[in-house]
This record gives sequence, C-alpha cells and structure tokens, in this order.
Amino acid sequence: MIDSQNAGGAGKSDSCGVCGGDGKLENAWGQVAKCPSCHGNGRRAEDTGFRDVTKTKASHHQQSNKAAVAVKQTWPTTATGIQLATEIRDSGLDAATKEKVTREIMEHEATHGLCTQTFSKKIRKQIRPAAAR
Ligand SMILES: [Zn+2]
Repeated sequence: MIDSQNAGGAGKSDSCGVCGGDGKLENAWGQVAKCPSCHGNGRRAEDTGFRDVTKTKASHHQQSNKAAVAVKQTWPTTATGIQLATEIRDSGLDAATKEKVTREIMEHEATHGLCTQTFSKKIRKQIRPAAAR
C-alpha cells in the first residue's frame, strides 16, 4: 500500500523498485549480482507472491477449508462402508436412524480400518430387520 504510493504513477508499477526492472544490481566493486528483491526477473516482489500478506491469507483460507471438510464427513470411505451407507440411504429407515447407523459405519471404519463381515451383517440387520430373520 505504501509501495504503490512510492511508485506513484510512473507507469512502471510492475518493475522491481530495487533494481528498476533490470534484475541485476551493481555493487561498489563493479560486480553485478542478481537483485535480491526480484530474484533477477525485474518484477516487483508482490507479483511473485513474496508478500507475507498473500501467504497468510492463502493458508488461512486453506485451514478453514480443511475444517469444513472434517466436519462434513458424513459418508464412509471404504468400499464396504460406502455400499452399506448406500443401502441405508435407500432403505425405509427414518432420517435420524439413517444418520446414526451411517455414523456407526464411519466409527467402525476409523477403529478397524475397514468394515468386517460381522459388522456388515449387524448393520444390515438394522437396515432390514424383517429380511434378517
Ligand atoms: Zn529487482
């Protein structure tokens, strides 16, 4: 913000302010070194994502996305779990029971890493009590 005021209307707002867009700096001994501000490309640091503001914003955004995904996990991840959850979804159970049983599958997945056959049977009994008899 202060930078843009300093560069003020020179018409070269995208050139590096340190080297003037050359990408090189000459030191007191006449040696030419790569400009540390633009890393030799002659462009302003903010164009290369150098600014911390941009980084902070991006990582904060990512973090909130992550949190949303974690909360949003309402579906199993294993093949068997997904199949069971689909059966639950298509069953005649009420919404609260569907949610409860689906969560049971996800919890089982979390502790066992998969859905065991015994567990599948147990779940299917809850989906179709009549058929299991
Ligand atoms: Zn530069």
